[in-house]
Amino acid sequence: MTYKEDLEKFNELIESFSKLPTIGKKTAIRLAYHICTGNQFEGMKLAHNIENALRFIKPCQQCGALSENELCGICTDEERNKDTLCIVQTPKDILTIEESKSYQGFYFVLDELDSKKLNKLEQMILRQNAKELIFALPHNLNSDATIFFIEDRFKDLNLQFSKIAQGIPSGVSLENVDMVSLNKAINYRIKIEN
Ligand SMILES: [Zn+2]
Repeated sequence: MTYKEDLEKFNELIESFSKLPTIGKKTAIRLAYHICTGNQFEGMKLAHNIENALRFIKPCQQCGALSENELCGICTDEERNKDTLCIVQTPKDILTIEESKSYQGFYFVLDELDSKKLNKLEQMILRQNAKELIFALPHNLNSDATIFFIEDRFKDLNLQFSKIAQGIPSGVSLENVDMVSLNKAINYRIKIEN
């Protein structure tokens, strides 16, 4: 048996770590080593937390945010402003905007433009009688097309359309924008003329 064959499970752990975003080979080895030689209870807790996250965290049935319930804590929050609905590309963007504390309305994750998603969005607009749709999408040609498409599709719903200000550099995802810029981008959002 070679040393590599002996450490099959260790190497599989390294491989799993190196598939995670931002983790290179060196860091993966460091993490695997830490798990195998560090506090065993902490290691088991990590495994347990990963398993629980996979089992219990699902998209909110209404807005698509990450949630442990059918409806997320934002959709069920009576204190939030029902007038505004913020369109984001990924559930992660919701966490980023929430972190910036610059927005008090509701969200909708629009990861694709299929009819099922669009019907869901329409239901949500109607249910809460939303008055403004804010597009918090990364600035690129794709998002311009999406905004144009949504505006056209919901033009009869009496909505104000706006998009977050150009403080967000082109092609940069929301999570990489600093909080001050994100705050400004939301508060100084630009009205889209119909
Ligand atoms: Zn929700």
